[in-house]
Amino acid sequence: METFRIGPIRPPSEAASLLLQVTQGCTWNKCKFCNLYRHTRFQAYTIDSIKEDIDRMALYGEKALKNKRQDGTWDIERINTELSMMPADQQNCYYVVAMWLINGGKHVFLQDGNTLALSGGRLTEVLLYLRKAFPQIERITSYGRAENLSRVSAQEFAELKTAGLDRIHSGFESGSDEVLKLVNKGVTAEQQITAGRNIKAGGLELSVYFMPGLGGKELSRENAEGMAHVVSQVNPEFVRIRTAAVKPGTELYEDYEQGRFTLCSDDEKVIEVRRLITETKGVDTRLVSDHIVNLLQAVKGSLATDKEKMLGIIDGYLELPERDRKLFQIARRMGYVISLKEMLRLDGADRVKLEKLVDETPDRYEWAEKMNALIGRYI
Ligand code: SF4
Repeated sequence: METFRIGPIRPPSEAASLLLQVTQGCTWNKCKFCNLYRHTRFQAYTIDSIKEDIDRMALYGEKALKNKRQDGTWDIERINTELSMMPADQQNCYYVVAMWLINGGKHVFLQDGNTLALSGGRLTEVLLYLRKAFPQIERITSYGRAENLSRVSAQEFAELKTAGLDRIHSGFESGSDEVLKLVNKGVTAEQQITAGRNIKAGGLELSVYFMPGLGGKELSRENAEGMAHVVSQVNPEFVRIRTAAVKPGTELYEDYEQGRFTLCSDDEKVIEVRRLITETKGVDTRLVSDHIVNLLQAVKGSLATDKEKMLGIIDGYLELPERDRKLFQIARRMGYVISLKEMLRLDGADRVKLEKLVDETPDRYEWAEKMNALIGRYI
């Protein structure tokens, strides 16, 4: 059996989705904090080659479905035997499609970084073809770059919705023009607002990302206030928190090394999330924390009804003595605990080890650098 392309990047919320690669890389590729596609030249695949991939997925799907019993259960043993008899590249494709179907076969994510760059009705054609091949699909989502999205009208989004696109994920990262410029995001807050409003008017769901800490110490307040302004203007369905980490190999890391960018502490990043919650007005957006880089993963909920609950968690953390906050930061960043509550169950020996690490680094900025390095391992 022929194989199909599978790109590496997708949002965590699309972990169970079938991944269809319609473009490769990112059209912009210049954000200072990102090196995801630095060595990948952007390419939009032809309609024929995307359809070919969908056809191949459908063939793997047919093969998998022969292992579905009448009562709805699956003969996993036989699928495993079939997998063991395939060459490695086919194994991967068959595994992906079979697992997707076993889990309901409901969601598809279109890769890579900026699918909306697929112009001239090509995306519509892909969507229609995909829906025909897999009629059981309930949701198709994709990444889109806000600058490109701002040039798509509400009418055009409505057409994409009719063809089968349900949700767009967009890395807004910040709503502050100063921060967006600092990290060379290539988009303005105004363009984000235009894009967001058109997406929503077209009937699509919008999931945007916010990066606490992206403006560094100097623009920490602006970063949060700007995002709160954009979210208040757009009312996206979701705001996903992605705490900023400055990683080696990015331009932002060079800025940091040369003293042009000052890292925020974990506490300052938490305060940014607090500010986003308090300053976002008149929306029913859900704040989502679905990534290990976020310190307080329990801070999530509706910006209409759960503000108090979320602020309670944040304030509970901020009111701790500094040493306890640092202890939690390192325990969380090193994978010992997930939440503040779990600190009570921290093993005595582990606690002593972590306290030693805390006490070894009294300098606050040096500590922020250590935490940054630890977070960077996760992205
Ligand atoms: S638009 Fe997204 S994928 Fe492209 S460089 Fe920026 S952060 Fe990276």
